[in-house]
Amino acid sequence: MRIITLGTGAGRPTLKRGSSATGLEYQGDTFLFDCGEGTQIQLMKTPFHWGKLTAIFISHLHGDHVNGLPGLLGTLSLSDRKEALKVFGPVGIKKLLQAHRECQSLGLRFELEVQEIETGQTLLETEQYLVKTLPLDHVVPCWGYVFEEKPVPGRFDALKADQAGVPPGPLRGQLVLGQDVSLPDGREFYSKDFVGPSRPGRSFVHCLDTQPCEAAVELARGADLLLYEATFCESGGEPAHDWGHSTARDAAQVALAAGVGELVMTHISQRYGDPQVLLAEAQEIFPRVRVASDLDVFEIKRQE
Ligand SMILES: [Zn+2]
Repeated sequence: MRIITLGTGAGRPTLKRGSSATGLEYQGDTFLFDCGEGTQIQLMKTPFHWGKLTAIFISHLHGDHVNGLPGLLGTLSLSDRKEALKVFGPVGIKKLLQAHRECQSLGLRFELEVQEIETGQTLLETEQYLVKTLPLDHVVPCWGYVFEEKPVPGRFDALKADQAGVPPGPLRGQLVLGQDVSLPDGREFYSKDFVGPSRPGRSFVHCLDTQPCEAAVELARGADLLLYEATFCESGGEPAHDWGHSTARDAAQVALAAGVGELVMTHISQRYGDPQVLLAEAQEIFPRVRVASDLDVFEIKRQE
């Protein structure tokens, strides 16, 4: 599982930080969380297979999170995409995209499956993963997302299988999947004898824009990587919560309360040319923290 922060600024794109967007790659599927202005240019700078996008999740309809969407959809059409594309977002996103379609600015040649979110729910589910959402606390309706890998099979003890005479090949695959195997000669092999306990899946949480709230903690509980907004720092004196935003200290407190593996702070105000002050503030509370830059890559490895 790999995360790429495409745009890490707040409010408006600058030469240093683009508008909000984050890519996620998982076993051949690709996802986009938010799509601020310029996202498609950022995507071109990555090895991300974005022409094959599986789904796009929009947190809220402020321009710095959604203004890149029409351009990206138009380019996907020009690239001859045929597959349907799922887009999830708050109420209003259908109207926004419909207006673009009516003005024929998208030139769409593939089906757009737009789902407006009205309540916390599971949005996508496959055998391997699910994507859930909860409402955050911003000045407009805003949704946080968790991408959660389902538990994966335990480790296969190949040495033990060799010693027991389990033939190599697909039979071993069946054992890994929890299926017991009978051979034509009458021998039987039981999955539990060769496969360890299942291992927890990995998870990624996208929380922006928001002031600290219970839903953010709930969404992030136990996550491997929490991407959380830190628009300001406490010492800056801005009324972050009045504006529906968080400080670096807030981000660290949410990460601590949720017991996440790692916190990555993003949506950084342009006033912090050097984000060291944000990092120092967060580290006092939660040491496993980084500040994202545009085009940073974060691998989420499976815990062994
Ligand atoms: Zn924003």
